Amino acid sequence: MNSMLENFFKLPSIPNFAEKNFKDHFLQADKVMLVLIGIQWFIATFITSISYDTYLYGFFGGGLITFLLVIAYPFFKGTQVMRALVGIGMMLFSLIYIQQHLGRIEMHFHVFIALAILSIYKDTVPVFVAAVTTIVHHLIFNYLQFYEISLFDMPVMVFNYGCGMDIVLLHGIFVFAEALVIGYIIKLQIEYGVEQNRSENQILGLNEELSFTSLHDSLTGLPNRYNLYSQLKLTVANANRYERKFAVLFLDLDHFKNINDTLGHNVGDTLLKAVSHKLKSMIRENDIVARIGGDEFIIILNDFNDLGTLEQVISKILDAFHQEWVVQKHFLRLSTSIGVAIYPDDSQEINELMKFADIAMYKAKAEGRDQFSFFTATLNAQVHEEVKIAHDMHRALEDHEFVLYYQPKIHISTGKIIGAEALIRWKHHEKGIIYPNSFISIAENTGFILKLGTWIIDETVEMLSRLQHAGYTDIHVSCNVSTRQFQNLHLYSDIENAIFTNGINPAQFAIEITESVMMEYLDVTLEVLKKMKGLGIHICMDDFGTGYSSLSYLRRFPIDSLKIDKCFVDDISANENNDHILLNTIIAMGQTLNLNVIAEGVEEAYQMEYLKARGCEYYQGYYFAKPVSEDEFFALLEKNRSS
Ligand code: C2E
Ligand code: CA
Ligand code: CA
Repeated sequence: MNSMLENFFKLPSIPNFAEKNFKDHFLQADKVMLVLIGIQWFIATFITSISYDTYLYGFFGGGLITFLLVIAYPFFKGTQVMRALVGIGMMLFSLIYIQQHLGRIEMHFHVFIALAILSIYKDTVPVFVAAVTTIVHHLIFNYLQFYEISLFDMPVMVFNYGCGMDIVLLHGIFVFAEALVIGYIIKLQIEYGVEQNRSENQILGLNEELSFTSLHDSLTGLPNRYNLYSQLKLTVANANRYERKFAVLFLDLDHFKNINDTLGHNVGDTLLKAVSHKLKSMIRENDIVARIGGDEFIIILNDFNDLGTLEQVISKILDAFHQEWVVQKHFLRLSTSIGVAIYPDDSQEINELMKFADIAMYKAKAEGRDQFSFFTATLNAQVHEEVKIAHDMHRALEDHEFVLYYQPKIHISTGKIIGAEALIRWKHHEKGIIYPNSFISIAENTGFILKLGTWIIDETVEMLSRLQHAGYTDIHVSCNVSTRQFQNLHLYSDIENAIFTNGINPAQFAIEITESVMMEYLDVTLEVLKKMKGLGIHICMDDFGTGYSSLSYLRRFPIDSLKIDKCFVDDISANENNDHILLNTIIAMGQTLNLNVIAEGVEEAYQMEYLKARGCEYYQGYYFAKPVSEDEFFALLEKNRSS
């Protein structure tokens, strides 16, 4: 209560209302009040001249007030002094009316109207000054009236029904009460105004923040794709004006997902920040580096003299990645693949340029990563061809143009067929047979392999069911599974469904996976493989010896057999005393780990003999049979059974 009163009586300096334009508000209010004062002067003169013989009092008194305020205006406008003077002025007019009407009670109404008008200022000072003016005036004139003292012949009556301190007190209370009410309303208005002003400021601030976040990547603070495109417009305009070229570098970190998956997103994020920092430090001021996706960055290099210098810069970027990256106590190795497209040589269109750089980046990846590749017209043609194939594959699956061929797997010592590998063929209605090397990688890139993969699994399992019905209950069939399929949660349920709906023995079904499958998504892959193993499926490691081939991986993964890559078999020559340490080691390693060892691509008898001598149990290859149709495979089985 006390503090409320205190706040009321504490005359505010300029209130913190609508901060920016409050001074303007006061200047404006001063003008309005001067006009109102002028009008009052007119009214005072008018009223006094028609009703009484004291018109000079209205004209001169009102004129004096107006005059003094106009004189004060240039010196005090906008200040609290001016407002206080106006408060006094307004009130003096009330008093002129009152006295001039010999203290008629109705004339006192003007006091209350004048106080209310003063609230225009949104400042309590003029209101309280006015109230005090009235009270002081009433005190003085009550005295004059009481003692009938004349003052320059002017009417001194303020109360037409008698006078006395009780009446002064009564008037004073009413006036003061109104001043309090108005003061309170002003206070509320000011608080509301401040609040509104603050929220507007907050919105403004938020907008600024939003416009930053909408243009920048939140993790690294680098420009984002949208920002990059708008900056590129400027870059293009400059390149055109000065007839210069610029290069678009499309960077994609190699095996970044591994780091994320094995060490966690925290480490991944910190590494991305470190990479952004590094890239920023490597480019010049008028170059641009932006992050446009998870581990994808774009660098725009301006002003290079010739391709030679450009290549040097790019090599430097590649080298920079070879440093050891220390992130949260992990020592990480990192590399990147870079695709390069050049404006205006490759394209004059920004979107196309980015696409071309992307295409070139994929080539760098395909050629072994950790390198750069320039966009070329041939590459473009190749990509167009691939796009056509990608589209055509969907139709082909509907039109039943895909078939599985089966290549027998042989037990070396007995010569018996123990199973087969399903290998896909595309019997194109126009182009004839297309081999998997021409379309599997495309299917992997487009994601079509997921659909095709499901078809391959279903087809293999159905084939197994036919084998079972024909009485071949100990022959297994394997199918190749791509990395991309392992990234998908459906792989396991696809296999499980197929096995149960066809009612086959899971032990007759095998999958062939490459080391890259295992390496790419270690944790997820391991989990899926364990589930498969639990189902009783046979798991074969394909192309062994070409990748990491580490013993520790062999131990960690629940595999049943090892397929030695064809390149090792190719090395075996007819020469009598040739020895192949690597090949021998792989065979020995398989045996130690209790794995079935199978060699692929055996074309010659001496290769088979060599493998047999080293203890390799199974083989597969043209020497026995090429991949054949299902009917032919059944015929081979029939022949093999009777032999
Ligand atoms: P892969 O899994 O290593 O399959 C072995 C490849 O070697 C097959 O080629 C096979 O026909 C060929 N081959 C077998 N024996 C010999 C031989 O004695 N000499 C020679 N020169 N080649 C031999 P293909 O059928 O063209 O398949 C190539 C690759 O395509 C496969 O390599 C596999 O990675 C992939 N692939 C084939 N079918 C499928 C499939 O159904 N799904 C998936 N994801 N990939 C498949
Ligand atoms: Ca295979
Ligand atoms: Ca293979």
